[in-house]
Amino acid sequence: MTTLLNADLHCHSVVSDGTLNPEALAQRAKANGVELWALTDHDEIGGLTRAAAAAKAEGLNFLTGVEISVTFIGHTVHIVGLGFDATNEALIAGLQQTRGGRGQRAKDMADGLAKAGIMGAYEGALQFAGNHDLISRTHFARFLVETKVCKDTYEVFRKYLTEGKPGFVEHRWATLKDAVTWITQAGGVAIIAHPARYKFSTNEEYALFTEFKTHGGQGVEVITGSHTPAEFLSYADTAREFDLAASRGSDFHSPDESHTELGTLPLLPSTLKPVWELIKDRIQYAGDPT
Ligand code: AMP
Ligand code: MN
Ligand code: MN
Ligand code: MN
Repeated sequence: MTTLLNADLHCHSVVSDGTLNPEALAQRAKANGVELWALTDHDEIGGLTRAAAAAKAEGLNFLTGVEISVTFIGHTVHIVGLGFDATNEALIAGLQQTRGGRGQRAKDMADGLAKAGIMGAYEGALQFAGNHDLISRTHFARFLVETKVCKDTYEVFRKYLTEGKPGFVEHRWATLKDAVTWITQAGGVAIIAHPARYKFSTNEEYALFTEFKTHGGQGVEVITGSHTPAEFLSYADTAREFDLAASRGSDFHSPDESHTELGTLPLLPSTLKPVWELIKDRIQYAGDPT
């Protein structure tokens, strides 16, 4: 397997903050020519059994996946895990603990929004959450669009849900060490998701990549729906500099909201080592291995 593979290893279902169920995502991935697929819901692996079965039915090779929320030097960073054993108890317990604070956080977010004159946001957001254990800012955003407070979810994030805005609540997620350890001890590979999104300084980014490697992290997303073409190139350099394998994923959430469709981004640069080389033995093949 080379970099020349239409792998889409980052997307979300209704089990976190996507709007499609795992079966619809598998169908969409297949229709778009995806050759290797992973479902990576936020802090939650409850959709993987359905996703694996749907992938098999579609003739789509599949990897287990998750996107873990981490707090690193006071900022939220996302770590994608791929190819782990989804029955691993430490991983399951760690994810449950990470999800645990979301209910209270959502109530605090609603209190902040109420002070800004937006009432009923907790109940409203909950109606959009397919999994009440995983209420996220995205569900609040959908509620504020439905009630016509904003025209789209991007406007909601800008005006209400990011740092300094009425619905933003500081939150402490998992540590970088815990997230990387849960993934790797379950036999998976840990990957820094969409690094350009964090807007870190050079020093902060160096600290993230260095500490990530210390804990056993092995990959970085280079081709992602969250990066510009210029960032594809600069993070390809970062992958080489830190000797990390490269990953590719759309971060698709919804046909109505996502700018990037499943399986449509450029392929990985051929000079990089693809993450799927590291977890070949964990791929669930739909047919005979190729
Ligand atoms: P949470 O885990 O509850 O903090 O929600 C984070 C999710 O909100 C991300 O995974 C994205 O799907 C979405 N999101 C975060 N920032 C933005 C933004 N600026 N615009 C649109 N969606 C965003
Ligand atoms: Mn999301
Ligand atoms: Mn993310
Ligand atoms: Mn994501």
